[in-house]
Amino acid sequence: MADLRFAGIGMTSARTRDRLVQRLREQGISNLAVLDRIRNVPRHIFVDEALGSRAYEDTALPIGFGQTISQPYIVARMSEALLEGGPLGNVLEVGTGCGYQTAVLAPLVERLFTIERIAGLLDRAKERLKELDIRNVKFHHGDGTQGWKSQAPFEGILVAAAPLAVPQALLRQLAPGGRLIVPVGEDGKQELMRFTRREQGVTRESLGHVAFVPLLGGKG
Ligand code: SAH
Repeated sequence: MADLRFAGIGMTSARTRDRLVQRLREQGISNLAVLDRIRNVPRHIFVDEALGSRAYEDTALPIGFGQTISQPYIVARMSEALLEGGPLGNVLEVGTGCGYQTAVLAPLVERLFTIERIAGLLDRAKERLKELDIRNVKFHHGDGTQGWKSQAPFEGILVAAAPLAVPQALLRQLAPGGRLIVPVGEDGKQELMRFTRREQGVTRESLGHVAFVPLLGGKG
């Protein structure tokens, strides 16, 4: 039963997913492990059934609570940017949302810690990941701008919502060589940034312009 639901038919079938993967390749995504996850994670189970037929379009879709599931290109781009430079042990994700990005990334890292401020979203994400038998994820309901001190340092941190400025707590929780992928800036003017902790300090690179929901303080 579950297998059939995950495999999909028609607009959620393997062929539809292959088209999405092809499109991401054309847009420059080249990490094969990431493309493989985009092909295999059933994005349609993370959205409302009525939106299922649009799950493999390269677009953000509503998931309730005024939030959206990230666009596949962005999930792929952020995952690729995080994984460049070698395998990762402890990784922190801020902004679990429906758990789609979490499901894409989890098998590509050793342990994934994920924080969401809206309890209703976090509960649903937990359920979905359990259904998919993904077991290396720890969930936390809270404010991700503070990071997750008791589990730090992290070799990778990925932020799925945009702060106006980089949260210092996240930079502090980066391990030596660790990288933080985060969209920074106000609505309409955000830039995807990669910060890397090196011996001499933290370096920064821009990965291009993006559009994210804002990173908010406090619990929802
Ligand atoms: N990658 C997610 C995208 C979620 S959108 C997915 O694929 O579904 C961004 C999420 O960040 C929202 O769920 C929002 O509630 C959450 N968020 C915003 N500010 C936050 C904060 N300070 N701490 C934790 N989560 C936050």
